[in-house]
Amino acid sequence: MLITGDQQLLKQMNRMVLVRKLCREPELSRADLAAAVGLTKSTVSLLVRELVDEGWFSESDLVSTGSLGRRPTPLHIDKTRLALLGTEFGIGRARIVAINLVGEILESADVEYDDASDAASCFKLVAKSLIRLAKRVAVDGRSILGLGVGLHGGVDEKSGVLHYAPNLGWRDIDTPGLLKKQFQGSLLADVPLFVQNEADVAALAEFEFGDQSSVDPLVYLSIGHGVGAGVIVRDRLLTGFRGFAGEVGHTILQAGGPRCSCGRSGCADALIGLGALLAKIKSGDKSGSFAELTTLFAKAEAGDAAICEAVNDAGKFLGVLLNNIWVAFDPMRIVLGGAALQFGDTFLKPALDVFKEYADAAQLPSPDVTLSRFGSDAVAIGAAALVRYHLTRPYNLQAP
Ligand SMILES: [Zn+2]
Repeated sequence: MLITGDQQLLKQMNRMVLVRKLCREPELSRADLAAAVGLTKSTVSLLVRELVDEGWFSESDLVSTGSLGRRPTPLHIDKTRLALLGTEFGIGRARIVAINLVGEILESADVEYDDASDAASCFKLVAKSLIRLAKRVAVDGRSILGLGVGLHGGVDEKSGVLHYAPNLGWRDIDTPGLLKKQFQGSLLADVPLFVQNEADVAALAEFEFGDQSSVDPLVYLSIGHGVGAGVIVRDRLLTGFRGFAGEVGHTILQAGGPRCSCGRSGCADALIGLGALLAKIKSGDKSGSFAELTTLFAKAEAGDAAICEAVNDAGKFLGVLLNNIWVAFDPMRIVLGGAALQFGDTFLKPALDVFKEYADAAQLPSPDVTLSRFGSDAVAIGAAALVRYHLTRPYNLQAP
């Protein structure tokens, strides 16, 4: 969505400054907003009226306070009239959600792929499911602001093309093209579409729907089949020159270590990722179906010695990676997410112990390390958060 004309852009920027402010500080009045963002009260009143009419804001009933007269009307982000769609194209299946403007799930669905090796057929299935979900959302009278997509691989953020998803075997996939073809003639035909890497969008879920003042800079470390990070610095997703920033799964943790899918040896991916763990345990096969993973987690929980030792080793390397992320980005918080967290303390404790040893040796306070607030929905909700992130920062949408 390209906004043309300086006046139009300026107005949209002012409107979205108000939205972002109210997201961070609910219940401000028009006068509070005017003072906070430096616009006149009359301009704010005009913009707030539009935002209320369009479903972004709602206002409480007027409150009379007796002798003090009428109190300014508190404004709220409206949870009832607008929706954001998000989908994660995961390994073996996709997860779809519709959320409101504050990140609460309205509708959700899982889509099992018929043939995971055929990206076009997977996109077709997911598109159909998205249309069905959008219809359910629209029945409630909600308008859909946009659709976000989270992909397990490097994404060109301008074109939305997926370069390569090693754990799916998908390469050079025109994500917007495939989805828009399926959306023709449906109520999703014209919705804004945004595509980004899975760890990047999961970072946005934490950032957009959390207390932004206490988490920026933020690094979201995703540990599933592979390892990746989403990095937010000063209100912006750090995407890098080609969109590959945060590919920490291919930082080297052990010179001469095990071979990685990227061609290097000793990468974090090959030492921490579930794909590598499965390969280690199953002597070479790293297909990683849900059944295999379920069995793996169950055996770990039952105390299988070989698996617990492998998970413990992976945890120690996670501690090394946490140290490297800390040193590289100096974040306020590192959030951990992804399927590997299901190993619980068998995985986390050695990681945090190693991380603490490095912090103690350096005599520096380490950043907070927390678990994702959204669990297995982190990427799908993050994909929907990507829509809010872009729409509320209209200058990001301008062509360079
Ligand atoms: Zn690698």
